Amino acid sequence: MKKFAGIIGYPLSHSVSPSMHNFIYQKLGIEVEYKKWEIEEHNLESHLETINDEDFIGANITVPYKEKIVSFLDEIRDEAKFTGAVNTIVKNDNQLIGYNTDVYGIEKALDIKFKNDVIKKAVIFGAGGAAKAAVYALLRRGLNNLIIVNRTKINAIKMIDKFNDVNCDHSVFTFNEKPQIKSACLSSDLIINTTILGMKGSGYEDISPIDCTFIDSNSVIFDMVYNPTKTQLIKIALDKNAHIIEGLNMLVYQAIKSIELWTGIHPSFEDMYNKCKEILEGKLNNE
Ligand code: NAP
Repeated sequence: MKKFAGIIGYPLSHSVSPSMHNFIYQKLGIEVEYKKWEIEEHNLESHLETINDEDFIGANITVPYKEKIVSFLDEIRDEAKFTGAVNTIVKNDNQLIGYNTDVYGIEKALDIKFKNDVIKKAVIFGAGGAAKAAVYALLRRGLNNLIIVNRTKINAIKMIDKFNDVNCDHSVFTFNEKPQIKSACLSSDLIINTTILGMKGSGYEDISPIDCTFIDSNSVIFDMVYNPTKTQLIKIALDKNAHIIEGLNMLVYQAIKSIELWTGIHPSFEDMYNKCKEILEGKLNNE
């Protein structure tokens, strides 16, 4: 029987991962089928047990399970250990091993704008799995001033505690502390959205974490939300002639790393990026 992998999350209506993976597997003759598993939280553990048969090679984990999945795995490695967030499970000798390929995706996406430049000050909206991966990637690039804005303050404080040993100034705000957030945004090298705000299917598609007064033409805006490609935040940034990094770049790079871990094959960025772009722009069906 054909081997299989897939994506576990909730909701998943917005996800182009199955189309992107199955397209590249067919193109490269990789004998793997990539499935979509939209699972409610109370079924997460039993679902993992059900799919974990001899043909299962691994899975991607997305919102909201990157941290919740950790307790069901045999081992976690590398960036996943440091961030406590897993976006890729690899089955190896009947063990389920957790990795975090979001860090690689973020690093490659940042290279598009920053190349090898140091990023000293960043504002991150959100404090979930993707935010932790962003902090990890930014600390590697010399970050020394971090501002976290999150709906639930305690989650942001817990995240900061995780990175306590690291020498980096930090502040935490909730969304209603607008003057402080505005001042931080206007003086930072980078603004990243890692919340679900702007995401199709989230109920918040038309919402941006900030308004146009928080940015200027020197701002660099990285929106991890990739569907739609032009989120409210990206539209505001474009109106201000700011620099943008679209979440689709990260999506493709983190997928490439997952495929490498499962199969040893390193697929082409351009092939996968173009396929996703066509789907997201409505030129192709999201199968
Ligand atoms: P997560 O661990 O579930 O974290 C979700 C974050 O969103 C938390 O900070 C949460 O705040 C915040 N949030 C949820 N609902 C909100 C609301 N109504 N208003 C304001 N904030 C809200 O999810 P994740 O894995 O980090 O993913 C977060 C986002 O990044 C998603 O949009 C996902 O699609 C995107 N992402 C993209 C890529 C890519 O490759 N482009 C990769 C990973 C993630 P609380 O702490 O208050 O709950």
